[in-house]
Amino acid sequence: TEETLRKMEKLGMIGELAAGIAHEIRNPLTTIRGFVQLMNEKQIASQYGDTILDEIDRINFIVSEFMILAKPHEIQFSDCHLTSILRSVIKFLEPEALLRNVNIEYEFPSEEVYISGEKNQLKQVFLNLIKNSIEAMPSGGKITVVVEKSDTMISITIKDEGVGMETEQVQKLGEPFFTTKQNGNGLGLMVSYKIIQNHKGTIQVSSELNEGTTFHISFKNPVRNKVKA
Ligand code: ADP
Ligand code: MG
Repeated sequence: TEETLRKMEKLGMIGELAAGIAHEIRNPLTTIRGFVQLMNEKQIASQYGDTILDEIDRINFIVSEFMILAKPHEIQFSDCHLTSILRSVIKFLEPEALLRNVNIEYEFPSEEVYISGEKNQLKQVFLNLIKNSIEAMPSGGKITVVVEKSDTMISITIKDEGVGMETEQVQKLGEPFFTTKQNGNGLGLMVSYKIIQNHKGTIQVSSELNEGTTFHISFKNPVRNKVKA
């Protein structure tokens, strides 16, 4: 089943909400974290101190995800070297992949590929997608990351041989808190879609239950745009 994802308009409203909530949560959290750490150091936090810190960090992580929705106008675009971003993400995920018997292969063009964007946000998208692919293959398998470049487009395909999804599940992708995982938060794809939207790119997914899933991202080739202008 193939479905073009066009839920991005809805994300505008979520962005405004996220801005408010993120700031309101961050500040008290920072204070609490400081005090718990102090109690830990003075050994008055009992054995629960570390657990409290872990949970605070978990909340902080979720708030950071929301910050991305909240601040599209603050993105600083620059020329990003796409394949080195992908290489560093793959390298970062390699230990986790190895642990689960997952092989990550890539096919990159021999020439340099640049995207106009915000490096850390692009990293986060690829991290979310490849991590999902790893998590979709509990008994191992192969992930293929392909970069293609034409005069007008740059595309990235991330393909796995994982559990796949039913049509209804595919339609829910990108909705906040949609997760089928025990420890998932259902924010990774929502944030990824928002980042792609901020970069004027498109993202498509095709998935077959028990066969695997393919995410296809494409951006306008910025070099081509420069030639035109
Ligand atoms: P999380 O990973 O925390 O669950 P995501 O937003 O990253 O949140 O993903 C949402 C859901 O989409 C996952 O729980 C899973 O059901 C589904 N999903 C995403 N990527 C894949 C994939 N590559 N293969 C199968 N299912 C996927
Ligand atoms: Mg995820």
